[in-house]
Amino acid sequence: MQRPAIIRKTTAELARPPHLADYAATCRAFTWDAARRELAGLPGGGLNIAYEAVERHALGTRRDQVAFRFLGAGARRELSYGELSALTSRFANVLRGLGVARDERVFVLAGRIPELYLAVLGSLKAGCVVSPLFSAFGPEPIATRLNLGAGAVLVTTASLYRRKVEPIRAQLPTLRHVLLAADDDAPPAALPGTLELAALMAQADEHFDTVPTQPEDLALLHFTSGTTGTPKGAMHVHEAVVTHWATGRYALDLHADDVFWCTADPGWVTGTSYGIVAPLLHGVTSVIDEADFDAERWYRILQDEAVSVWYTAPTAIRMLMKAGPELARRYRFPRLRFVASVGEPLNPEAVWWGAEVLGRPIHDNWWQTETGGIMIANFPALDIKPGSMGLPLPGVEAAIVRPRADGGVDLLTKPDEEGELALKRGWPAMLRGYLGNEARYRKCFAGDWYLTGDLARRDADGYFWFVGRSDDVIKSAGHLIGPFEVESALMEHPAVAEAGVIGKPDAVVGEVVKAFVSLKPGFVPDEALRLALLGHARKRLGAAVAPKEIDFLPTLPRTRSGKIMRRLLKARELGLPEGDTSTLEAGA
Ligand code: ATP
Ligand code: MG
Repeated sequence: MQRPAIIRKTTAELARPPHLADYAATCRAFTWDAARRELAGLPGGGLNIAYEAVERHALGTRRDQVAFRFLGAGARRELSYGELSALTSRFANVLRGLGVARDERVFVLAGRIPELYLAVLGSLKAGCVVSPLFSAFGPEPIATRLNLGAGAVLVTTASLYRRKVEPIRAQLPTLRHVLLAADDDAPPAALPGTLELAALMAQADEHFDTVPTQPEDLALLHFTSGTTGTPKGAMHVHEAVVTHWATGRYALDLHADDVFWCTADPGWVTGTSYGIVAPLLHGVTSVIDEADFDAERWYRILQDEAVSVWYTAPTAIRMLMKAGPELARRYRFPRLRFVASVGEPLNPEAVWWGAEVLGRPIHDNWWQTETGGIMIANFPALDIKPGSMGLPLPGVEAAIVRPRADGGVDLLTKPDEEGELALKRGWPAMLRGYLGNEARYRKCFAGDWYLTGDLARRDADGYFWFVGRSDDVIKSAGHLIGPFEVESALMEHPAVAEAGVIGKPDAVVGEVVKAFVSLKPGFVPDEALRLALLGHARKRLGAAVAPKEIDFLPTLPRTRSGKIMRRLLKARELGLPEGDTSTLEAGA
C-alpha cells in the first residue's frame, strides 16, 4: 500500500509536552558539560554509572519507587530504588570479600533474572568492569569472550554453568570465581569450584561506598552483534553515563512517572544502555520480561503493565506484524505514549503499522555498540519521514563523508548525496577501544571523525536515511543498491513477513540482486507468488534495482540481537564458509 511520505506531529497528538519541544533551540543550547552537571558525581569527586543510576535516587525522594518490575515465569518481583541500592551494595561487598580488585573484569551469563541486574550494577559500584553475555551462547563463544576480556569472575546460574561452563573451565585461565544463582534444575551448592551467590549475598553488608571511579575509567565491555563478521569487544567508560542520561531524556523522552519497557537483552548493548542504565538515571519504573518473544504475551505486557514508553527492535515488530492485526485488536494501549526501535533499518511499513495497530507511530533511531548510546533519532515532537532514522541528538555532529586516501575525509554536503555516516568524535559514550585489537580501533577514525561503516544520506531537511552497511551494498550494472530499499519494497507486499537481500556475483553486471523472503502464515511459497513478488518489486523499484531472483525460506538467519545476517545468506548461496556464527540465533 502506498502511504504519505510524512507523519505530521500536531501538539494535540503529543500526550504530554516532550523534553525536546524545540529541536533547533535545544541543539543550540546543549553542551555535554551542561548535561554532566545534571548528574550528581561522587561525593568525594569522580563519576560512577551505578551511583548515578541507583544511589542518587536511593538517597533522595525516589527511594521507595519501583525501579525494576521483573516478570518471571509466573512470579513477579519488584525492587525499589532503595532495595536496589542495598542489594547492589551487598553484591559489591561479595566481590570485595573475595578479593576482587577494582578494574577486574566480571562477566555475567544469565537470563533476564534479578541477579543479572544486581551483578552489573554491583560490579560498577565496586569499580569493576562488567560484561553481560547472552545466556544462549554456547561454550565456545563464552570462552572466547571471557578470555579476550580476561574475566576474573563469572556470575551465572547453576544449570547454565553445568551445561556450558563446567566443560570448558580448564580453558579459562583468568577465571578465579564462579558465583551461581539458583535455578530450577540444579542446587548451586552441589557444584565444585563454584560459590553460591545467595549465601554470599545473605552474609554481605548492605552498605558500600561506591569506589571513586573517574570518568575515563573502564566500566563496560560490550561485544558487537556479529552481523558482518567476528564480534568486536567495545570498551566503554563511566563517562558514558552522560550520553545515557541525555539520550534517555531527549530520544526516549523518559519522565519519572513512566513505565518503560526495553525488550532487549543486556547481552546486546541496547539491553544495558537502555535496559539498565538510562531508565534508572531518569528514575522510571522498568519492566523486565524474562521470557522470550511471544506476540500474545507482549501485547498483554504492554496493556497490563500500562507501559508508557516502549523501546524495541524491527525484528520484534516484524514478528508482531506477522502475527496479524486481529491479535493486536484484543488489547488496548491507552497509556502508551512513545514507541522507539533500534538495531536495523525500520521499514516504512513498520512505522505505519505502529500508528495503526498500537495507536503510535514507531520512532526509529540509530546507534551502534561502539557509540554506546543513541546518536540519530526520530524525536517525539518532530514529524516522522517513515524510512528515515531521524536527526542527530543534541550534542552529536553527524555527517556524510567520503574517506580520502591520505587519512582525512571529504564532507559531502549536498542533499541526498550517499556516503559513509560519520560522527564528530567527543561524545561521552564513544568507545575507547576494541579489546585486543588496537589496529581495528584506530581504523575507525579519520582525523576528528569516527567512521561508522554504514552508508547513508542526509536530505534537505537534515533527516538521515540509512542506505546499507558498506559490506552489504550491492554494485549492479553501475548502480549502488542498498538492501534495505529492496527489502522495504518487498515488505509492502501482503504475503511478505521478512526479506533479506544480497548481491550475487555476475560476470556481466558485477552483481545481481537476489532476495530471500519468508512469508506470513497462510501464504504458499509457489511459483505464482514468486512471479507476483518479482513483478511487485519491479513496479516499485524499476528493473535495475528490483531483485532478479527470489528464494523462499521459512525464516531468515538472524543474530541474537535480531538482525538479519546477510553475510550468511550470501555464504550459503555461494557455498562459501559461514565464518563466525557465535551470535547466530538457534534454528536459523
Ligand atoms: P558487527 O559490528 O559485529 O557486524 P553489528 O554492527 O550489527 O555487528 P551492533 O553494534 O549491535 O552490531 O549494531 C550496529 C549496527 O546496526 C549499525 O552500524 C547499523 O548497521 C545497524 N543499525 C542499528 N540501528 C539502525 C537503524 N535504526 N537503521 C539502520 N541500521 C541500524
Ligand atoms: Mg558493527
